[in-house]
Amino acid sequence: MSATPLTPQLDSPHSTKLEFVPPLLGGSLAELTAWVQQQGQPAYRGKQLHDWIYHKGVRSLADISAFPKNWRTALATVPIGRSTLHYRSVAADGTVKYLLQLADGQIIETVGIPSDKRLTVCVSSQVGCAMACDFCATGKGGYKRHLDVHEIIDQVLTVQTDFQQRVSHVVYMGMGEPLLNTENVLTSLKSLNQDVGIGARSLTVSTVGIPSRIRQLAQHHLQITLAVSLHASNQALREQLIPSARTYPLEDLLAECREYVEVTGRRLSFEYILLAGVNDLPKHALELAQHLRGFQNHVNLIPYNPIPEVDYKRPNSDRIQAFVNVLKQQQIAVSVRYSRGLEADAACGQLRTSKTLPV
Ligand code: SAH
Repeated sequence: MSATPLTPQLDSPHSTKLEFVPPLLGGSLAELTAWVQQQGQPAYRGKQLHDWIYHKGVRSLADISAFPKNWRTALATVPIGRSTLHYRSVAADGTVKYLLQLADGQIIETVGIPSDKRLTVCVSSQVGCAMACDFCATGKGGYKRHLDVHEIIDQVLTVQTDFQQRVSHVVYMGMGEPLLNTENVLTSLKSLNQDVGIGARSLTVSTVGIPSRIRQLAQHHLQITLAVSLHASNQALREQLIPSARTYPLEDLLAECREYVEVTGRRLSFEYILLAGVNDLPKHALELAQHLRGFQNHVNLIPYNPIPEVDYKRPNSDRIQAFVNVLKQQQIAVSVRYSRGLEADAACGQLRTSKTLPV
């Protein structure tokens, strides 16, 4: 696993870099303006470019009708950073799963989840995942590489264009571990906020927890939502389910979470997968509540979504309700996330690229 350092410049990724080079997605208004000026164009073309790539969703600079014809032709080969749609499938509940092909041929998954007035995009942050959590399909396929900033933003624009609706929320809960690709994830968060126009509080990063990274993230004082995949009420159980827990004690993870809440003033949410007979007993709920007492948080229970490689079971609704009741009695805010998109293999933990290629 590579350790990507959190660089100080991420507090201001929109400060103009010395040299901004395409792909253009991820570029701030200032960077795009500087770039058009380098091409001998007036500064206002930067604003036009920004609008066309982030809001009009143009896929080729040759299609920007606001630009002079000869310049458009010259720009035709400059990459915006858009991926190619490889496959699209729609579940009965309206959830859409996309397989997107990147410039180097790698394929990632993105999910569009409509609900009421919301449109949530579940983005991948890496190709594959190195964490190898026992219950997760993505981990079974191994890790390939980090996603670049433009490859993250492209996922959001793809869903926005497909639904013909503004994306209101983005969750970093697709393939990969966001806090192993921190620099690109942070830059993409800033760009989704400032360029695409999604509210910071509507951006959620989900992490299994990487030593020191939650503490470092807190120093950026972002208004985003952090979700931590806890999944177990004690260290021994967590190690069984999540290999990386062996080198990151639960106590240390929770200490960083407490620090995160103190430093950012933001509530934190914990994700807890429910696996029948493994971590879903009332004693586990009680143990979990004891760990979480005393700092602002929320528990999101995720009943297990089946994957073929392992024989875990999803608990029945009585068991789920019993778990909820114990947490409520312990004054822990709790909700159950019934995953969307199950039939399209688009639910939490089911994202992979191998078995879903077009037929
Ligand atoms: N790597 C990040 C984000 C990716 S997964 C993380 O671990 O948080 C998003 C959520 O789906 C995580 O909480 C993950 O543990 C959960 N998940 C994985 N496999 C699942 C499955 N089979 N059923 C239900 N949830 C699952």
